[in-house]
Amino acid sequence: MTQPQHTGGRVNVLTKPEVIGTIEELRSRLTDAQSRIESERAERGEAGGTPRVVLVPTMGALHAGHLALVRRGRSLGDIVVVSIFVNPLQFGVGEDLGSYPRMLEADVAALAAEGVPFVFAPTSQLMYPDGAASTRVVAGAVGSLFEGAARPGHFDGMLTVVAKLFNIVGPDVAVFGQKDAQQVFLVERMLADLDFRTRIEIVPIVREDGGLALSSRNRALEPAQRAAARALSAGLEAAASVAAQGVGAALQAAHARIDVQPLVKLDYLVVVDPQTFLPVGGEHHGPARMLVAALVGHTRLIDNVALDLP
Ligand code: AMP
Repeated sequence: MTQPQHTGGRVNVLTKPEVIGTIEELRSRLTDAQSRIESERAERGEAGGTPRVVLVPTMGALHAGHLALVRRGRSLGDIVVVSIFVNPLQFGVGEDLGSYPRMLEADVAALAAEGVPFVFAPTSQLMYPDGAASTRVVAGAVGSLFEGAARPGHFDGMLTVVAKLFNIVGPDVAVFGQKDAQQVFLVERMLADLDFRTRIEIVPIVREDGGLALSSRNRALEPAQRAAARALSAGLEAAASVAAQGVGAALQAAHARIDVQPLVKLDYLVVVDPQTFLPVGGEHHGPARMLVAALVGHTRLIDNVALDLP
């Protein structure tokens, strides 16, 4: 087992992060790490409150998008915990729970290179001893729009696991990606509505060359599908470039790029108000966000872009 090393008030590792599978062990490691950092600080005569814990929740199969979250996390606190858990509660019947990529060893190796001391990788049995949590968070009306319309119960399941992870880890900050815009909106709402103390930090979407937003699901794309999938980001980019002409022009520009791709089966393309996450009317002015979701083969892809509608 690799011992975390502590330098400059931050926990680093020389080799691999410690992979932790139980709540008790995680809590005791975090308490130990915090008190070590505190005593090191005291020895150096440094001030500073309780060392800050940062959580980066993921479902694993890590890529550069996840690692951008981890790097942001390291800049925000003293101890970064990455959780890796493919949450059955947020997958519907017939979705890709069984085939979702799982590669813990490779993920841990990638996180070692980022200086992450702790990976929390619980089993479903630990998270849901009764098979499914008997108490769940309900995402509310926005939870049944867009991704929630296509994946009923998805956001209730997502919020439930986020609430559990926040209670398990007790982070000061948790880092999320803008890639899942509706998730970010709903997590922020849950934190406000349920008076969580954790605040969240949002990292911009990381894209591959050619614009496709990085996603663990991209692994399932064949080369022709991957090429076709670039129409999504191209459509969003085209929309952003004509946003000055209004919502209609932005939608038209995106459709023009996406609808011509026979391998891309569009689910929704909408412009929402970031304050409410509800679709805007044609006369909307100010900040907005365009969301897109499509099936490419059997792979469901989502993407989004900020629009400034003058
Ligand atoms: P996932 O493992 O897909 O549940 O994602 C874990 C976190 O990584 C979520 O907050 C995602 O929004 C974020 N994420 C996934 N892909 C990207 C990306 N391409 N750019 C930025 N963040 C991402």
